[in-house]
Amino acid sequence: MQNNLTSREIRLAGRPHGVPGPQHFELVSEPVPALADGQVLVRNTWMSVDPYMRGRMDDTPSYLPPFQVGVALDGGAVGEVVDSRSDIVPVGSTVSHFLGWRDHAVVDAAGVQVVDVTAVPPQAYLGPLGTTGLTAYAALTEVAPVRAGDTVFVSAAAGAVGSVAGQVARLLGAGTVIGSAGGPDKTKRLTTDFGFDVALDHRAGPIAEQLTRAAPQGIDVYLDNVGGDHLTAAIGAARPGARFALVGAISSYNATRPVSGPENLFEAYWKEVTLRGMLVTSYFHRFPEWIERAGGWLSDGSLQTAETVVHGLEQAPAALLGVLDGANTGKMLVRLGD
Ligand code: NDP
Repeated sequence: MQNNLTSREIRLAGRPHGVPGPQHFELVSEPVPALADGQVLVRNTWMSVDPYMRGRMDDTPSYLPPFQVGVALDGGAVGEVVDSRSDIVPVGSTVSHFLGWRDHAVVDAAGVQVVDVTAVPPQAYLGPLGTTGLTAYAALTEVAPVRAGDTVFVSAAAGAVGSVAGQVARLLGAGTVIGSAGGPDKTKRLTTDFGFDVALDHRAGPIAEQLTRAAPQGIDVYLDNVGGDHLTAAIGAARPGARFALVGAISSYNATRPVSGPENLFEAYWKEVTLRGMLVTSYFHRFPEWIERAGGWLSDGSLQTAETVVHGLEQAPAALLGVLDGANTGKMLVRLGD
């Protein structure tokens, strides 16, 4: 059936210098190739856009290869198997895989994960039950473990990682959970929906002053999604022996020149702060544990999730530009197909 099928895909049209725009993407239709043995044809129904994709638009070495100009982008997606030449992944399966940014994907069966959608919607595997949820869990259980009674600070707290992290911190026994986000709507959601005790608005004033007021005794754990002023503020507020999970530095992703480190880094020495980077790929072995715990928390209501949905493949570039600019609450997703 796939011989007559065409599929749309989004390609990188050029590399940005600084803030990317729609001109850096192009929408192209291509015939879908015939399946080889061991391959499946997936009709993508959801795809993920994530801040790390901005780094892949540059031609610089990183933990994932750069996107290539004139070639389709890739990233997390879920969809339905509509044709199969694999004994292990039959037609009708719902799968997650890494060939997003297109309506249809031809994927090796070894490169897809069949997901259970009896209790959760398929797109959950791109958010709370996917890498962003696991990032929050690994950060707060292993990289900067939360102990009972801790004061925990999370930045980009209304986003995909942050909104899960606040609730996980609480479930792990934190005493006080502080989050920062941009604007009054998001900061309200931090305390009403995402389990934070205190919400800071980084657009309303210097984050260091707000954090000092919110945590006069200091913080024990910081999950850093932002870098820059937030990391500086957290070092300033750190208690002796504080633990920091360096998860992301979105404030610098569009920088056009090298960004200086926190000017107060020396405080980390005498406070004996642990600053530890993490890549979620190093924690994939903990996916089964996370999915079991998160599945329980989702079903008993102790983990609330949010998503911001953009419709249509043609809107995927706008969704990526939006996530870099704060357009999302919870996980930013693109709905594909009907
Ligand atoms: P989010 O859903 O949190 O979206 C990004 C958010 O960052 C925006 O919504 C915006 O929220 C905030 N933001 C953008 N610019 C700034 C700024 N200058 N200062 C403060 N906040 C800003 O994305 P994710 O949850 O997917 O990712 C969060 C972070 O975690 C990113 O840095 C990402 O790269 C990183 N990450 C790292 C992983 C790893 O393995 N190390 C895995 C997954 C994610 P607001 O409107 O509130 O400012």
